[in-house]
Amino acid sequence: MPNCLNCGTWNPEDKNVCWRCQAELPKPVVQKKRGPVRVLGLSIWIWLAIFFFVVMMIAMQFIGRAVGA
Ligand SMILES: [Zn+2]
Repeated sequence: MPNCLNCGTWNPEDKNVCWRCQAELPKPVVQKKRGPVRVLGLSIWIWLAIFFFVVMMIAMQFIGRAVGA
């Protein structure tokens, strides 16, 4: 609900001007940021990096065992 900046009166969502003082109302900003996908606050690329790192560690262990044996 956008309150009038001039008089503080509540105004319906679809109003462009205050019904009371005719002051211009701030338009409700609908922000739909289409940024990178985030999982638990981390960028998906960070998770991919972690996943890749873990896979590499496991792969290295397997390679190490294969070579050692
Ligand atoms: Zn007003």
